[in-house]
Amino acid sequence: MVEILFLLLPLAFYSGWKAARNKFNNNQKKQRELSGHFVKGVNYLLNEEPDKALEVFLNYPDIDEYTAETYQLLGNLFRNRGEVDRALRVHQNLIARPNLRQEQKHKAMFSLGLDFFAAGMLDRAESVFQELLKDNNLSKNISKSLVCSSLRTIYEQTREWEKAIETTTCFSKYLDRKATQNKFNEKALISHYYCELADEALQQGKLHQVDQYLGEARKAYKKSTRLMSLVGDIAYHQKKFLQAQDSYLGAIKQDSRLLSMLFPKLEDSAKKVQGLESLLNTLIKLYRKNRNATVFEHIIRLAVNNNLISTELNKLVETELSTEKMSVESIYKSSEYIIKEIDSKDSCKYLELISRALKNYLQGLPAFRCMHCGYKMHDFLWRCPACHHWDTIDHT
Ligand SMILES: [Zn+2]
Repeated sequence: MVEILFLLLPLAFYSGWKAARNKFNNNQKKQRELSGHFVKGVNYLLNEEPDKALEVFLNYPDIDEYTAETYQLLGNLFRNRGEVDRALRVHQNLIARPNLRQEQKHKAMFSLGLDFFAAGMLDRAESVFQELLKDNNLSKNISKSLVCSSLRTIYEQTREWEKAIETTTCFSKYLDRKATQNKFNEKALISHYYCELADEALQQGKLHQVDQYLGEARKAYKKSTRLMSLVGDIAYHQKKFLQAQDSYLGAIKQDSRLLSMLFPKLEDSAKKVQGLESLLNTLIKLYRKNRNATVFEHIIRLAVNNNLISTELNKLVETELSTEKMSVESIYKSSEYIIKEIDSKDSCKYLELISRALKNYLQGLPAFRCMHCGYKMHDFLWRCPACHHWDTIDHT
């Protein structure tokens, strides 16, 4: 993609040159010089001699509003190709030009900030963006929200969470809500930052600060599952197991993905308060509600780990195996439960159920695969629709 953009450069240069030519129509000599310079520079670029091209462009005496755009593009292309040094030289050269319009200067400065960021010079990127932010006459194409967003990325990288919070609020203040259709969840983000701060304070043993940060996180976004798991962790370390279990369950009910991460501590908390069976029932209830495979697998894991046999669970495994389209992990977990918990006289019936579940699973899988590119399909084809090779389709 970058290569294609790079090939478009001559066109961009040409249009810049043409515009420049129109402006100086009366000065034929200057025109010839102008075109000579550009052609030379473009030739160097096409011959993959970017340093020579750079010299030609950087030593070009007259940059006006038309050619400035081209320079801007050239620098960005260098950055996109990973040639940050060259990008920096172009943008720095551009900013130093006295006859640049303010709008173009802002654009060049923003690009310079991005160059510094790409080069890993975060403090310099920060000062460029901060300077832009202070400017009350920023032009339309470099909005304050864009600058805040770039600053936020820097602070996330440097783990300066307080500053990240500040720039998130600033970003939100200048954000064009209609344009972004509210995709940006400021509250959740700020809550994450406060949780990071609480986490750090917890590791340093500064418990009063932990409470303060958690309070702020709660204020920002009460429903944050991260906040709930963190509250659970704190209770767990303070051996308040019932409270820990409640917080973990609160988080899991909202987001089942967290179950695998929280399961060991959840299981242990339940053990400590002798609530394993009640936990099992809660998880079964949750599974009936959200039909989430992770929840099912952890129900079985909990039962197998702790020898929990219940008629309800037997029934659940039976129904799921015979009617549901299960993941291969869920089928495997069910078989573990059957081996361990089900009476051997029923083994034939359960073997049949496992076989049916596997059949259900296999029916959903594509039966054929291209041996050249790996593309999978349900029906045999003579020619692969992805890589267009002939006779490359085989069984998966
Ligand atoms: Zn293919």
